[in-house]
Amino acid sequence: MPRRVVVALGGNAIAPAGRAGTAAEQTGNITRTMRALADVLAVEPTELVLTHGNGPQVGNLLIKNELARDVVPAVPLDWCVAQTQATTGFTIVDALEAALAAVGATRPVVTLVSRVLVDAADPAFREPTKPIGPWLEDAAEVERRRREGVRFVEGADGRWRRLVPSPTPLASLELAVVARLLEEGTVVVANGGGGVPVVRGPDGTLTGVEAVIDKDLAGALLAEELRADVFAILTDVVGVAVAYDTPERRWLTEVGVEELADLAAAGEFAAGSMGPKVEAARRFVERTGGRAVIAALDSAAEALAGRAGTQVRPDRDRA
Ligand code: ADP
Ligand code: MG
Repeated sequence: MPRRVVVALGGNAIAPAGRAGTAAEQTGNITRTMRALADVLAVEPTELVLTHGNGPQVGNLLIKNELARDVVPAVPLDWCVAQTQATTGFTIVDALEAALAAVGATRPVVTLVSRVLVDAADPAFREPTKPIGPWLEDAAEVERRRREGVRFVEGADGRWRRLVPSPTPLASLELAVVARLLEEGTVVVANGGGGVPVVRGPDGTLTGVEAVIDKDLAGALLAEELRADVFAILTDVVGVAVAYDTPERRWLTEVGVEELADLAAAGEFAAGSMGPKVEAARRFVERTGGRAVIAALDSAAEALAGRAGTQVRPDRDRA
């Protein structure tokens, strides 16, 4: 078993699309995954960092913002990200602590509200691409907010959805604390929801911005910064497929970074879902020489051991 591991849990895998995603459902999905990870930690004293997506969870907070706008002030997006880090993070802490105790491998687990640095000059801020929150129907309201600088995309049915920038993550600002906690044997939850995006002003001060960082890229960055041996992305499919939407669908069990880059260039992976996972896995492996794996949430232990999911290796062909 590898010495240091970063595991990214999918937001959709925690709150499955098309279902209500109640607190109980989300807790149940997290609990099952934490039991599997506890089994791994019971056998090996692996250093473990967890990160998680928050797409459905932030979407729900934004719906609350819309519905309550006339009663309490709407909160900015960076606040929403921080809030989902807290709720998903504490659920992970609760579930993993209990699971570790149950297998006699008690260890401290902590979640950090984590900021991730982005560049105010990132081109993503000029061209927002990520749709978030509810579909809006009130044209006058959409127009009013457009004048405030909010961007929208119009759907085929004449409704609008907000678009936000998805800038490249540059640095995990809680890195030094994460590293220290890991060395002490603590399991750390960090960079949830891609991290709270912050920019550095000319005078050095940090400010939260209305953007969403891709959680797979933020997880890969943290794995690289921590020099992890393995970066695992757990989601709601068994791995990476080619010809995914066709009868010829074929799951990849092992792939080298170059082959993966070729497949991505050929358009095999959907933007906004498998695309960023493949890109994150590729970046991590290319920059560190470590191993990445993309697998189903319920195969966590097998995936970490190299026996499930799509294993991404430095270069299978040239090894
Ligand atoms: P998460 O919340 O875990 O980030 P996403 O929904 O963003 O999950 O990404 C996982 C989804 O990617 C799968 O449910 C699947 O429908 C989709 N997907 C798109 N292209 C592929 C592909 N080539 N191979 C596997 N899954 C794919
Ligand atoms: Mg995703």
